[in-house]
Amino acid sequence: MLTSFATHAELEEALLGCDRCPLRRDAIGPTSYNGAIDSPLVIVGEGPGGVEDEYGVPLVGPSGQLLDKALASVGVTRDRVYVSNILKCRPKGNRTPTVDEGRFCAMNWLDGEMALVRPKVIVALGSVALKYLMGPDARITKDRGRWFETKYGVPAMATYHPAYLLRLTGQDVVKAKWEVFYDLKAAVERCRELAPGYELASAEKPDLLAMYEGRRLERRGGR
Ligand code: SF4
Repeated sequence: MLTSFATHAELEEALLGCDRCPLRRDAIGPTSYNGAIDSPLVIVGEGPGGVEDEYGVPLVGPSGQLLDKALASVGVTRDRVYVSNILKCRPKGNRTPTVDEGRFCAMNWLDGEMALVRPKVIVALGSVALKYLMGPDARITKDRGRWFETKYGVPAMATYHPAYLLRLTGQDVVKAKWEVFYDLKAAVERCRELAPGYELASAEKPDLLAMYEGRRLERRGGR
């Protein structure tokens, strides 16, 4: 199912026009990726929420803002990592996508993205990303924080999706945030070993919503 593309621009053009599955009907449109296309560190989330559907890019809403804070705590800014999702179209009512929906979309798009980026380390956020990258029997509660090798031949680690953290309260959220911190720290350390010359942080934190405001207006106009 993998269609190969010579550049990200070609891939993105094809992706934004995709209507290969019924999820496209209820979304404003497919969302693509953001960040650095030459980054050795890739973060793969689940699928777009409402804000992401509006802006056309992954992890820029409340979950994305929490991710930004978690990345800052381990010395990473969003413009220096490549961020994408397993699923590109927002499921109706923001429901969790099924494993099959995720697999179909990722085989169409994420695999092509990974062939272009060729990362050194992947972080999977949450169960849907983990199940695609590790296997359908993987469980986020059991398998987060453990290294595994993806089908891309790239070491990967899973951690909790920030949307999950946003639903927790009290001591549960404190514990889960520490686990995410240590998972990201391990991924960043491995990335620094494997790509020692690459800077994972910029001097200034990027304003992702401002960066994609033009795309938001275009998508609103196209509705
Ligand atoms: S979810 Fe993926 S495969 Fe389905 S229409 Fe959207 S981009 Fe295409």
